Amino acid sequence: MPGLDEFGLISRYFVPLAQSCAGALGLTDDAAFLPPDPTMETVLTTDMLVAGVHFFADDPPDLIARKLVRTNLSDLAAKAAEPVGMLLGLSLPSQTSPQWLGQFAAGLAADVAEFSCPLMGGDTVSTSGPLTLSLTALGRVPITQPRLLRSTAQVGDDLWVSGTLGDAAWGLAVAKGEAESLAEAHQAFLLDRYRCPQPRLLLRDLLRVHAHAAMDISDGLIQDLGHICAASDVGAVVLTDMIPLSAAGQAISALDSRHQDFSLTGGDDYEILFTAAVDSRSALHEWAKAKEFPLTRIGSIVSGAGVVLQNGPSGAPVAAPIRGGWRHFAAEGEGL
Ligand code: ADP
Ligand code: MG
Repeated sequence: MPGLDEFGLISRYFVPLAQSCAGALGLTDDAAFLPPDPTMETVLTTDMLVAGVHFFADDPPDLIARKLVRTNLSDLAAKAAEPVGMLLGLSLPSQTSPQWLGQFAAGLAADVAEFSCPLMGGDTVSTSGPLTLSLTALGRVPITQPRLLRSTAQVGDDLWVSGTLGDAAWGLAVAKGEAESLAEAHQAFLLDRYRCPQPRLLLRDLLRVHAHAAMDISDGLIQDLGHICAASDVGAVVLTDMIPLSAAGQAISALDSRHQDFSLTGGDDYEILFTAAVDSRSALHEWAKAKEFPLTRIGSIVSGAGVVLQNGPSGAPVAAPIRGGWRHFAAEGEGL
């Protein structure tokens, strides 16, 4: 980068983000230290983002940083973990400007503060290829807490989902200019859902008490639910009428039938899909009402294999959507 070597870059942009973590040593050493807590289990997760694949190279740099942080924190949220810190791998094209890096660091700083998740270290290299980012997040969960896994769903469980589905895929359609007749406020909402997902860390205590299995929805409801079914050796019935849609999502799917299946197959929502005993139903509804946060019961876990879509509690099976991700699902389960 013009005018700034690797060390200047680190001290200018990243050292301030490490201040709240004593073990990061102000990014002055080769490694960071994490003091043990014998009452907690550490949860680790990594996600990578590549320009041109996961985001547009000319997306706002602060939002690229935030998406990177948030996709990782979403994995921690699915494990009902609290964030501890993160490590950042940066592979920067040599023409990256200080302005770009300043905005990227500002986005990172905002999320470090918002989620109390300091930067504990990382690595910075330059590349002749596309901008590539890797983030490893560390979290922790009480050692006494049964692990929330893909493989721990139980037959008879209710199936729950946070927030609304399909918004990020619709946001991508907006970004591609495929929804220009949609009201501007709807376009802005959907674009924000695509660019700046919300890790559902606020579900942590609720999941710890009630959830049996959980994962975040990054590849679409059907595909990700297929993972839970395969790992838990169960099937699932999804009541398509119950799938929560945002007002903007309803508006865009009415506008263009190509987009109608996005609530079932669209990726990047980073909502939490979890299963819980029927006994937990009223507690979950009460929590959702008290917090004014949407939690929706969308179906149940059944014996068998694969995901079956049903239109209403006693309705006929719904034809499966044909889109990316579907083949993977069909190969894995025995659903539709
Ligand atoms: P090393 O030679 O051991 O790879 P570096 O010189 O690359 O160390 O890094 C110096 C310090 O800066 C280390 O503490 C490292 O964790 C930190 N660091 C380097 N790049 C980043 C980054 N992108 N984000 C956060 N910390 C970083
Ligand atoms: Mg290094």
